[in-house]
Order: sequence, then C-alpha cells, then structure tokens
Amino acid sequence: MARFVLIGSGLAGGLLAAYLGRRGYDVDLYERRADHREGNIVGGRSINLAISTRGIHALEKIGIADEALRRAIPMRGRMIHDKSGALHFTPYDVDPKKCINSIGRATLNATVIEAAQRYSNVRVHFNHKCTDVDIGSAVAHLETANCPVTARGDAVLGVDGAFSAVRQSMQMEIANFQYDESYLAHGYKELTIPPGADGSWRMEKNALHIWPRKSFMMIALPNPDGSFTCTLFWEFEGPRSFATTKTDDDVRRFFDEEFPNAVPLMPTLVEDFRNNPTGSLVTIRCAPWFHRDKVCLVGDAAHAVVPFYGQGMNAAFEDCVVLDECLQKFPQSRERAFAEYFRRRKENADALADLAIGNFIEMRDKTASKTFRAKKKLDHALEAALPGIYLPLYTMVTFTRIPYAKAAQRARIQDWLVFSSMFLIAAILVAAMLWFVAR
Ligand SMILES: Cc1cc2nc3c(=O)[nH]c(=O)nc-3n(C[C@H](O)[C@H](O)[C@H](O)COP(=O)(O)OP(=O)(O)OC[C@H]3O[C@@H](n4cnc5c(N)ncnc54)[C@H](O)[C@@H]3O)c2cc1C
Repeated sequence: MARFVLIGSGLAGGLLAAYLGRRGYDVDLYERRADHREGNIVGGRSINLAISTRGIHALEKIGIADEALRRAIPMRGRMIHDKSGALHFTPYDVDPKKCINSIGRATLNATVIEAAQRYSNVRVHFNHKCTDVDIGSAVAHLETANCPVTARGDAVLGVDGAFSAVRQSMQMEIANFQYDESYLAHGYKELTIPPGADGSWRMEKNALHIWPRKSFMMIALPNPDGSFTCTLFWEFEGPRSFATTKTDDDVRRFFDEEFPNAVPLMPTLVEDFRNNPTGSLVTIRCAPWFHRDKVCLVGDAAHAVVPFYGQGMNAAFEDCVVLDECLQKFPQSRERAFAEYFRRRKENADALADLAIGNFIEMRDKTASKTFRAKKKLDHALEAALPGIYLPLYTMVTFTRIPYAKAAQRARIQDWLVFSSMFLIAAILVAAMLWFVAR
C-alpha cells in the first residue's frame, strides 16, 4: 500500500488521515503545533464553528458524527439584534428540524485525530513544522525542536491551511501555477459573553446572534459551558476602525454606541479587545491542486474562503470524502485520482468563495431590513408550496450536498423565475385594472 505524508493535523488533516487509514494506506501526519489535547488551544482562530449537512455527512461516513455532535449546540435561525435592543428571529428553514450546529474547534479537532489514531497504520507527529516539499519526489522537510526531519512518501498531501507551506513549494516549482489571494478590508476579533451565575446562557441558546450594522457586524455562537463566543468583523482602517480604536475608552464608546444590549453581558470586553489578536480574512484560489501522483492540496490549503457562509470546514470535510472516493475509483493511478478530485472540487470551491463574500454583505447589511425578512418569508412559503422544486440558496448550501456551483446556478434561475412571475402578475393586475376602468 502507498505511503502518504500529510502536512497539517487541523480539521481536514485529522479527518483525511482517518479516511486514508481506513483504506489501509500507511499515513504519517505532521503538525507544527503541540498536541492540543494536552491543553494547547488552537490560537488565533475561531473557538467554535458552525457545522452543517456536508460536514456531518463526512463525519457520518467514517462513523464519528454522533461522537462529534454530542456537545454541539443546534442553532435554528438568526437572532437579529438591532441598535434599540429589539430582537427579530428568522428561522434558517421552513423545517424547524433543519439547523446548523455550533461546535468547539478544539473538541472537533481532537475527535478527528483520535478517529485517525484508531488505525494502527496512522502515525501522528506533533511539533513538526514543514518548511518545504520537493514536489517531484514527494519529500517533505520539517523542523523540530531538536533537528531537521525528512519525511519521504509516495505522495505528500498539503492539509496545512490557508498559508500552506506545501502550496508555497508548488508555487515555486510548478511553471504556470495559478495563484490568487485577496484580503477583505475587514479583520475579526473574538470576544466573550460568559455564562450566567447559574451556568446558563444569557441570550437565546439555539440561535446564531447577529448585530448587523451595515458596513460591519458582530456575531455570537453558543458554547456548551453557557458562554457565547462573539466575533466582531470590522474595518482594519478608516475613521471608525480597529486602527482608530486605541484606548479602553474608545472601545467602550464604540460598543456602547453600536451594541448597547451586548455590553452588559460582556464584563471582560475591554481586556478581550486589548488581548485577543485581530485576524485577517483571506480568499485563496489556486490551480492545479495536484502535481502528478506526488502532491495534492486539501481544505483551506487549496481554497480558503471567508467565513460568512459557515462553510470553510464543511467544504474541507467534503474534500476528504471526494478524495477518498477518487482514490477508490482509481486504485492503480493516484494521478488520475488526484486529477478527478481536482476536477470535481475546483468549480465548487470557486463558487463557494463567491457565495461567502456575498453572504458577508447579506449578514452585515441586509439581515437588518424588513425587505430581507420578507424575502426569507417568501422563500420559505415557496419552499413549502413547491417541496423539492424550490429550494432557497441558503438551504441548498447548508442543508443539502448539492454541489456549490450547481446550488448557485439553480438559485439564479429560481430568482429569475420568481422575479419574472411577480412582474407578470403585476402586469396582469395593471392590465385588468385598466380594462376595468376603461369599460
Ligand atoms: C473566524 C473564522 C470563523 C470560521 N467559521 C467557520 C464556520 O462556522 N464553519 C465552517 O465550516 N468553517 C468556518 N471557518 C473556516 C474553517 O476554520 C476552515 O475552513 C477550516 O479550519 C479548514 O480546515 P483545514 O484543516 O483545511 O485548515 P486548518 O484548520 O487551518 O488546519 C491547518 C493545520 O495545519 C497546520 N500547519 C500549518 N502550517 C503547517 C506547517 N508548515 N507544518 C505543519 N503543520 C502546519 C496548522 O497548525 C493547522 O493545525 C471559519 C474560519 C474563521 C477564520
């Protein structure tokens, strides 16, 4: 059986190692960080994430969905907080059972790594940082605290996230490697709403909370310990921005003005703001994702997207399923398996990148409007009236496994049909009124 060297034991790396281990491959998984099950939390990244149908399906296929979801919290819709403190709840779907789930990143990461380690042919090496890869010979060079390490495999899989060292080696060694990165003008900062004195949640637990403020927003997802992790998405630069908010008073003033109902729930606001890092938000597109039968990219390493559709990890997990299917389909030719995987995933990753940016505008700006809420009601009414025929875009992306590109295309056609029908109905009504008046 072939030997795979995996770089990165994040969410996708752990899951992919489990899939490859189950298929009987020899797997060495190298991770630059220490084992976070020993108390090292994944630093600077979202503490919790929303997992939905695609991600759950990938966990189910390897038999760990129940275990992973045990501590997840279902979120049935968006709870919009306007400036006056008024709340508006919009369910995600007409079917109240359809929800997204808030899950801890560290717990989920531990679950996938443990699933991989159940296979004796999978070995995990923490504190090994990949510096570069000889992509023609599938050799990875790694740094450890003591000495450099060389890992030789039949193939190296880059599962090392948005700033992938494996991808960087491909960039340097493959002629015509296409690469595009684009940063949003917004960064993000995580803040906390701790549990109430009795350990309970101080806002509605089963919702994703949004404070939409046109050009920026804050969101909050529930955690099992009764707390919420809030994320402020805000401009890096500008008259009101991370750059101009320097003192504790600036922070307090900004939050009092924009999120007055959240402030009393955030006793450590000023310290959190000062101490927590400000992250950047990047979209990465590249091609190809593989080199012969030697190297292949999976997850954020191949296609990092901004987090506004809550799909980055879901898509990375879907990659693992598709790559596993391709390796099964072409057992004699890894290169054909990699090529097929790239063909099936690339247009969908590109479509997701566009959807994710579009959803930022929807979340921070449109969710506050009555028109948005009316459109969601119309979506749900059409979905109920035309089951299986009309599916809102959010439903297709979040609650089905329809490929992202198909979902986006189908949504455009549906929107056109709905708009045209409404236009036609309006035209018929006007014509009928004119006829009635002229009679
Ligand atoms: C603020 C925020 C919120 C998000 N919310 C959601 C959400 O709600 N739902 C969702 O589906 N997605 C969400 N995402 C996206 C999600 O986090 C990513 O898509 C997902 O983590 C990708 O998994 P990955 O394994 O490809 O990469 P990562 O999770 O980044 O893992 C990469 C791993 O590789 C390791 N590594 C990196 N470089 C090296 C090296 N040189 N050598 C060895 N190891 C290395 C890293 O330490 C890490 O463990 C969010 C992202 C952000 C930033």
